Order: sequence, then C-alpha cells, then structure tokens
Amino acid sequence: MTHPDTRVATETLDPADWELTAEQAHRMLDDMLNHLRTIGERPPWQAMPPEHIERFQQPLPLQPQPLDDVYASFVEEVLQYPLGDAHPRFFAYVNGTGTVTGMLAQMLVAGMNSNTGGAYHAANYVEQQVLSWCKAWMGYPSEASGVLTSGGSVANLIGLGVARHVAARKLGVDLRRNGMQGLPGRLRVYISSETHSSIQRAVEIMGMGSESLCVLPADADFRLPVDALEQAIADDRAAGMIPFLVVGTAGTTNTGSVDPLDAIADVCSREGLWFHCDGAIGAVASLADPVRLLLKGMERADSLAFDMHKWLYVNYSVGCCLVRDAEAHRDTFSLTPSYLRRSTRGLSSGEIWFSDYSVELTREFRGLKVWMMLKEHGLEKFARVIQQNIELAAYLAGRVMASRVLQMLAPHPLHIVNFRYIASPDEAHNDAVNREIVMQLQERGIAVPTITTINGRASIRACINNHRTTQDDIDVFIDAVVSLGDSLTATVTA
Ligand SMILES: *Cc1c(COP(=O)(O)O)cnc(C)c1O
Repeated sequence: MTHPDTRVATETLDPADWELTAEQAHRMLDDMLNHLRTIGERPPWQAMPPEHIERFQQPLPLQPQPLDDVYASFVEEVLQYPLGDAHPRFFAYVNGTGTVTGMLAQMLVAGMNSNTGGAYHAANYVEQQVLSWCKAWMGYPSEASGVLTSGGSVANLIGLGVARHVAARKLGVDLRRNGMQGLPGRLRVYISSETHSSIQRAVEIMGMGSESLCVLPADADFRLPVDALEQAIADDRAAGMIPFLVVGTAGTTNTGSVDPLDAIADVCSREGLWFHCDGAIGAVASLADPVRLLLKGMERADSLAFDMHKWLYVNYSVGCCLVRDAEAHRDTFSLTPSYLRRSTRGLSSGEIWFSDYSVELTREFRGLKVWMMLKEHGLEKFARVIQQNIELAAYLAGRVMASRVLQMLAPHPLHIVNFRYIASPDEAHNDAVNREIVMQLQERGIAVPTITTINGRASIRACINNHRTTQDDIDVFIDAVVSLGDSLTATVTA
C-alpha cells in the first residue's frame, strides 16, 4: 500500500517530447497523403514472400522502442502489402475505398476518443444528425429510429432482431424473457438463393437455426421470385410454421440484382410479415436516378440495413440500420443497469443512448467521417460519382459484348459485371482458363477482380466500387483479360 505521504508516480502514455511527436505525426500525414495521391502507380495487391510473414511472429514487446522505429516497421511491413481496396483497379468483393477526408476524420475521432454508447455530448448529436439525413435520403419518416453499426452484417442482425421481437410480441410471447422456447412453432424467414450470407449468420446467432430459412431459388435475373414466395408462405402456414419475415435485397453481392422490393412490400403487408431490406450495396445508389426507380419499395421496408463503407466510399467501418417503429427497436435492445442509470441533468442525460438500439455498449464515433464527407461534398456529388461507377460498369459490359472472345454471364443492373473468356467448347477448360486469368491479373498486380460461379460456370466478377476508377483502368483490365486468355488457352488444361 502506498503511504499517504508518498506521491504516486506520474508516468503517462503521452509523448515525452511533444515537439518531436508533432514532427513525426506530420511526416505520417504527409506519407499517407502521398500514398493516396500515387496509389494508382503501384500494384493493387502483391503476395507477401514467406519470410515477410515471419516478421509477424515476434515476441511480445516488453521494452519501449522509439516511435520512429515502430512507424518504419509499419511502412515496411504493413503499408507495402495492402489488400488494395483503395486502388482504382481493385474490383474484388464490394470493398470500399475511403477518402482523404474520411482518413482525417478518423484521426479526429481517435483524438477525441468519445464513446458514443450514450450520455450527453456532441458526438452523440453528430450521429443523430447523420441518422436524420439517412432517414430523409432513404424516404423514412423522421420518427423512425436508427443506429450506425460496424457494417451491413450487424445492421442486418439488428433489423432481424427487431423483426423477431415484434413477431413474438404478436404471439403474446416475451422473447427477451422466454427466448425461442416460448414460441408455439418454428419461425420462418424468406430469402432468395442470392441473399447475403450475413442473413443466415444472423438467423443462426439468434438461435433460430438455419432451418428457419426458406431459401427461394432466384429467377433468371437473380431476383427473389414473388409467386414462389407467396406459395411458400401458404405452404409453411399449412404445415404449422410461423412465417414472420421476408428479406429483400437491394443489390445482391454476386451480380448486383435488385429484388422486386415493391412487390415484396405488398406481400408483407398483405400477410402481416416484417419486411427487412438488405441494402448493404445498393441503398446509397438510390441517389442515382436510374437506380432510384429500381429500388422502388425500399422505403416501405420495416427495417433497412445499408453500408456506407461500400458504395458511399466512407472509410471503414460504418453501416446503418433504420427501423420504422422506433419503440420496437428500443424495446428489443434497451437494458439499463444501475451503472448506466439516466438522469435529467449532467453527463447521464441526453435523450438518445445508442446502446439502447444495438448490441454494442461502447461505440466508436462512426458518424464523424460520414458527417464530414457529406458536408464537404454534398449528396449531389456522391450521386454523380456513383453514376460514374454505373457508367464504367456499362462501358466494361460494352467492351465484353464487343469482343469475340468474351461473354457476359449475368445482367449488370448496378456496378457489378460478370463475364468470362471463352477458350474452347469444353466448359471445364473455360473454367480453368478463367480461374487462371484472375490469378495472374492479381499476382502480376494488373487488376484485382475475383472469380465467382454464375449458373455453374466460373465467372470473372468485377465490382466498380471506387471513386478513383477511370475508363482507362477498365481498358487496362479488359485488354489484360483478353491477352492473358489468348496466351493461357493453349497452356492451361482442365
Ligand atoms: C457486404 C454485404 C453485407 C455485409 O456487410 P458488411 O459491411 O460486410 O458487414 C450484407 N449484405 C450484402 C448484400 C453485402 O454485399
């Protein structure tokens, strides 16, 4: 025990020399700005040599090292081998790109280090402001509730959680108290074969079991078939199950297809089911005129999940879930132990505590980067850049269709294009050649598409999700696909 007359040491983790740290900090900032300015001059992705990976097997550091040395390790060991998302020829998955302002905002957030779980402080109001903007933009009423999340997966989990809570309440069951055991039968969730895996994961985590999923085979355009949906609901009811939720997707991951959201909303309102819309990819593209029509009905969803770190280009990670019935949203998650008791004055006041609307208590201040980016550019500029991505995808599809050796494999309603190189009449050979084309594009640092499967065939999939991508990037990519295909046809065997 420390004697009352001795003083406790005053060691802190702040810099010993603030001037030196300021120089180091300015260098890091300059380096990152330069990194972004010159990003297109480097390969999007490179494999790490095995000896490089061994550098991540060092013993736990017990003693201090100068920040300069630590930063040098970052530059050498980490920065050199990015995933590549920010690069104009990164076409894999549906990854975000970030912006310079988003990067700076992240620094400001980390500097403030304000937990946005609750309490009375400005960061909370920034997040509320961002949510109000989202409601207006997505056609939701201002009384709806919402919460920023780590991404689409958690936003989907939140939407599905509220849906299940409400379904149980309708059956007179207090789900929070009794759990699934209190329900009189199996709950059923309707999705399509193109629905994102995070929906299945949410259903599994919630303890419903994947047998609660009714997976409807998507139609020829990769959309949820509404006739089959109605039939499945009727069949399930006849079998004693409890239909409660339909998930419609605004932009599927494989092809960018958009489910018939308006028709799904009709079915849900007729049948008394919850309509959750997974708009992780496409919801923000409602800014672009042609997409707005496609998304008609999205605004009727009871809950809407979408990502801002995908097609809104915001730095990782931030998504959003909006819920039309704010009271049901709060009722699903709110829990107030004594150490979080609210007051009418002081720090513990403030009417919205986001921890009442999510599975997180401590929350990163995710709203600032969105708030700053939206203010800096304005929604109209985002609309133009999103539209540009759609036009680049159309240009890519046009080049595919104009080529004798390339073939489209799916429609491209948004910014995702699926195509392949035709090497021979032998389908197994085609699959092998296309897989090898993608490997070589990645490994040679030319471009980073991925391989997916469309109607059983290997497909080169490119998602143009980057505000930095230009028509020249598409040309470099397509020219390389064709020349690699030409040279690999003879050497690759099935
Ligand atoms: C990416 C994606 C998700 C999951 O979002 P994360 O931000 O990766 O958690 C959900 N649905 C769709 C359609 C997606 O493309």
